[in-house]
Amino acid sequence: MPETSDPDCRKTPFSFELYPPKSDAAASALHATIATLAAAGPDFISVTYGANGSSRRSSLDVLTYILKTTTVDPMAHLTCVGSSSLEASRLIREFLDAGVRSFLALRGDRPEGAGEGEPFLGDLGSAAELVQLIHRVQAERVPYRETVIPGIPGARAVKTEREKVRIAVAGFPNGHPRSRSTSQDIDTLLAKQAAGANLAITQLFFHADHYLSFIQRARAAGVEFPILPGIMPVTSPARLRRILELSGEDLPSELAIQLEVEPTREGQRDIGIRQAGELGRELLAGGAPGLHLYAFNQADTVLAVLDRCGLVNTPPIPNPVKESQ
Ligand code: FAD
Repeated sequence: MPETSDPDCRKTPFSFELYPPKSDAAASALHATIATLAAAGPDFISVTYGANGSSRRSSLDVLTYILKTTTVDPMAHLTCVGSSSLEASRLIREFLDAGVRSFLALRGDRPEGAGEGEPFLGDLGSAAELVQLIHRVQAERVPYRETVIPGIPGARAVKTEREKVRIAVAGFPNGHPRSRSTSQDIDTLLAKQAAGANLAITQLFFHADHYLSFIQRARAAGVEFPILPGIMPVTSPARLRRILELSGEDLPSELAIQLEVEPTREGQRDIGIRQAGELGRELLAGGAPGLHLYAFNQADTVLAVLDRCGLVNTPPIPNPVKESQ
């Protein structure tokens, strides 16, 4: 079980991303993962949302499980592609009613099979519009109430018990694959801020400079909210191929070669942990406000990365391959 015995470990926030399980067996394994990750003391655990709402129920089940069994704040990814405003409002209300108070508001991708020129967006055209809608639905759930101000005839004060929601959005240090220019990505971030977002989480990247120069450009343009770097430990050549396909990032050639030439799975895993740990350390040294780890529903790898960054203490990973190199 991971420990956080060093109180200094707790100064820098970290968080994890999980995805909803696809079977009962995977759900049980995920519950164990959640318990282990929660014990490390993350700021939040986010849960992805399947394209076009395909995982609505299972995402909500995982979020509710986190809410009921841990003290960690669950963050719901939500996408708005293909939804009407009414459907999106109902969805947001369902998550708020379940107790979720943190969201990652996303536009979502073009559904597979939709032709290039075909419209696919629905009523909401961007993540910024979803951010606005989440605020609006939350406002409507807990309406303003007027209270009488004692001693001043006819005077009324507006009282609200509305809880604040945390609304994160996606950021793209190396540009969204569909954006026309790097300035468009910054403009999109500014639009999300204007809509009421208060945090960003980045797409994965492989070099600290990519994040740090993105932050410089964002701050120069007026983006003020914290931007958490998203770190994905790449623990096999197959995983590397898959994430490059999904993210559109360029191949990190050095890491790719290291993974290809390493014959054992243990050795590959160690390469991924080492690379992600170094990246995390460089990011924190460069001023990143915390680290967000893509956990792939497993605790050991991401905790080992955080250990290398000095954020948690975990038992050493036995790895004879590493020792012999
Ligand atoms: P937006 O920020 O609204 O737009 C994306 C880009 O498109 C912008 O950067 C901008 O360059 C361009 N753009 C936006 N508006 C316009 C416009 N009006 N005209 C021209 N260009 C425009 N997907 C899922 O389905 N489920 C998930 O759980 C999920 N989790 C994610 C978590 C993170 C941390 C990240 C980074 C991405 C995640 N995604 C997820 C992927 C996301 O859905 C895709 O990146 C999607 O293509 C765009 O969503 P967005 O919120 O970035 O959209």
